[in-house]
Amino acid sequence: MSKNAKELLQTELVQAKEQLANLDRQLQHRPDFGLGEGSPEIITWEMNLARRNVLTQRIEEIEQALERDSTGDYGICEYCGTEIDPERLRILPHTRRCVRCANIPMGSKPPAYVEEKALE
Ligand SMILES: [Zn+2]
Repeated sequence: MSKNAKELLQTELVQAKEQLANLDRQLQHRPDFGLGEGSPEIITWEMNLARRNVLTQRIEEIEQALERDSTGDYGICEYCGTEIDPERLRILPHTRRCVRCANIPMGSKPPAYVEEKALE
């Protein structure tokens, strides 16, 4: 991982954790659901909860990317083992897959190029 990418991820991690702490504070004030579905307070609360889920996932992704960097696995596709295009990493620094493998669902049959790679 380039120094730049790493700094970017670390900054993002700090920001994401701050946002998470903020959200958690707001989520503590759970509105009275007796207000009825569709009341603004409840909608805000539910939106915050959804944002919290996105954020925790993001934090996990960043932490894993930094972890892979420390073990030297960063930038290697977890699926086919080829190097991930640096341009792709620049846009998606936490990605674990190359562009070819990006849309293969986990656990599905590997495409031919992955099997060829395994035979090498
Ligand atoms: Zn791949």
